Amino acid sequence: MKNVIIIGTDTDAGKTTLSLLVLSRDPDRFRYWKPVETGTSDSETIRRLVLTSRVIPSLGQFQDPVAPPLAARLAGLPMPTIDDVCAAVPKDDSRPILLETFGGPFSPFTESNLQLELLQRLRWPLWLVTSSTVGAIGRSLQTVNALAAAGCEVTAIVLVGEQDSFAVEQLEFHLPKVPVFSLPMIDDWNATSIIDTALSVASTIDRLCETLAKVSELPADLVRRDRAAVWHPYTSLCDPIDPLPVVRAYAEYLELADGRRLIDGISSWWTILHGHAQPELVRALQAAAGSLDHVLFAGITHPPAVEFAEWLLRTAPWKGGRVFYSDNGSTAVEVALKMAYQYWCHRGEPQRTLFVGLENCYHGDTFGTMAISRDPVYFGRFEPLLFETARVRCSADALDEFLAKNAGRVAAVIVEPLVQAACGMRFYAAEELAGFFIVCRRYGVLLIVDEVMSACRTGSFWAFDQAGIRPDLICAGKTLTGGILPLAATLASPEIVAEFMTPDRTRTLFHGHSFTANPLACAVAVANSRLVSSIDWAAESARFQAILQEHLEPLREHPAVMDVRYCGTIAAIELHSTDGYLAAIGPRLREFCVSNGVLLRPLGNVLYTMPPRCTSAESLHRIGATMAAAVRELTTH
Ligand code: PMP
Repeated sequence: MKNVIIIGTDTDAGKTTLSLLVLSRDPDRFRYWKPVETGTSDSETIRRLVLTSRVIPSLGQFQDPVAPPLAARLAGLPMPTIDDVCAAVPKDDSRPILLETFGGPFSPFTESNLQLELLQRLRWPLWLVTSSTVGAIGRSLQTVNALAAAGCEVTAIVLVGEQDSFAVEQLEFHLPKVPVFSLPMIDDWNATSIIDTALSVASTIDRLCETLAKVSELPADLVRRDRAAVWHPYTSLCDPIDPLPVVRAYAEYLELADGRRLIDGISSWWTILHGHAQPELVRALQAAAGSLDHVLFAGITHPPAVEFAEWLLRTAPWKGGRVFYSDNGSTAVEVALKMAYQYWCHRGEPQRTLFVGLENCYHGDTFGTMAISRDPVYFGRFEPLLFETARVRCSADALDEFLAKNAGRVAAVIVEPLVQAACGMRFYAAEELAGFFIVCRRYGVLLIVDEVMSACRTGSFWAFDQAGIRPDLICAGKTLTGGILPLAATLASPEIVAEFMTPDRTRTLFHGHSFTANPLACAVAVANSRLVSSIDWAAESARFQAILQEHLEPLREHPAVMDVRYCGTIAAIELHSTDGYLAAIGPRLREFCVSNGVLLRPLGNVLYTMPPRCTSAESLHRIGATMAAAVRELTTH
């Protein structure tokens, strides 16, 4: 048997009637819990009318029969939070809990949370109760659909009052997977009369309880099946560590199938910007899904693609230009490489075939991006297949020296601005970045900035903004939608665009993907642009760094630690090691952090964090403390 939540379509739906009937039918089936009560105490009513019932004490009881946050305010008492309720759920395995809520899912729970959030956190099966009076069909359908959109599935609908077979028929037609039950009102609220009523509908109550047995659970063998069917990124097929089954995510948290909660300390591969399930973004996605799912983007356009492109161009350092959409960071870079080379072809300089990157750069996993990075661990094996490129030290002087000799062969220089992320979270100064731009201009070479990782993470929207430069091509991905859907973009300056402004169809940029400018992703990106426009980036970085420094600065003295560094909302600890990404300590650090409730995924000997913006002070302390403990516990010094 499972725990269950009784929720109403609204107040006075018949929730306590249902509780009384279920408990009177069999007082041993459930423990009753009403975590927050206003007005007459339902817990008291249950205790009084079902004599052998077991009632879990409520966390808040307020006299005025109004919405709980208002009742708490009127009483001058604190209202329990959703965290308080979740923490108070009894952990013992004795009989399951019948949790009665107040009002409906959209009733206010605290001053700033709706009751819906409690349902989302607990994820228990829901019995939706409504009065069978006129309007029951509409009330039920609205509530079931609104709950489904919020990820909460209704297990059964209970109509309380006069039997209404038309309502039952309609609900069964429109919601074929949700069983509907009818129960009478209790005329006389005394123990004997309730027992009599419960007896008269015993089989209905039993069938209602049986719906809980059918609630699907995560298959127990999910991990085994995963290991037999799925090939994971950057993971050995013989990895001794099983993947973590995640069933839900919200704010900075990932919830695992076994109920554990991890802090997502790396924003799910640097994508999640504000936090998981950010409400405005989720709402934008839901609204978009109702109107336009997907459409090809050649010869077609749609409002969110145009609106987001216009917004992106307003963030660019030039007037005009164009946005080319794709769906991942590697591809955004490939597009930039193709645009840059074709630009030179159109200008009659097809010999400019050389792209120049920085040592320790990473721009993606496709062939063009591998050719630029040539990281020996990630891409060494593909060396025979990679086209010629060059890498220079991360220094404007080194770039100057290289271009002085080779400028005529070079199509573009590509850099990760301020942060070289995947190859070890190496940071460099805005002055150096400005220097790269000056040198590129000096030799007439294009500059591509790969902002796929750095946008929104380094203390400004674009990292290159801090250097006051005007790159020719900008690549973006990951956070464009706040991280909740794949979308990438390559922004081209007006000078690049000008070379493609020709009726000669052979000079088209022949590039495009099935999901170019996916309307759902663009709609979420538009919503995200509104959120992003009001962020105080510097204040945010300061908040993150102040807390993380408290924990990480003392590590500077630790003999195993080579460096501790910060940039924007990123913090990294580099350990002494000769093995880099393959350092054996990497997976051990990860395991340690996960077992302490923090998801981190070190780049070998570099343990870093890049949490979502919403991460609370408490979670930031937890991340910092866990990183410090991991280093102290796992290094041999
Ligand atoms: N460029 C940079 C700077 C990146 O950090 C990454 C991914 N980590 C990429 C490109 C590739 O992006 P994606 O994984 O979306 O292909």
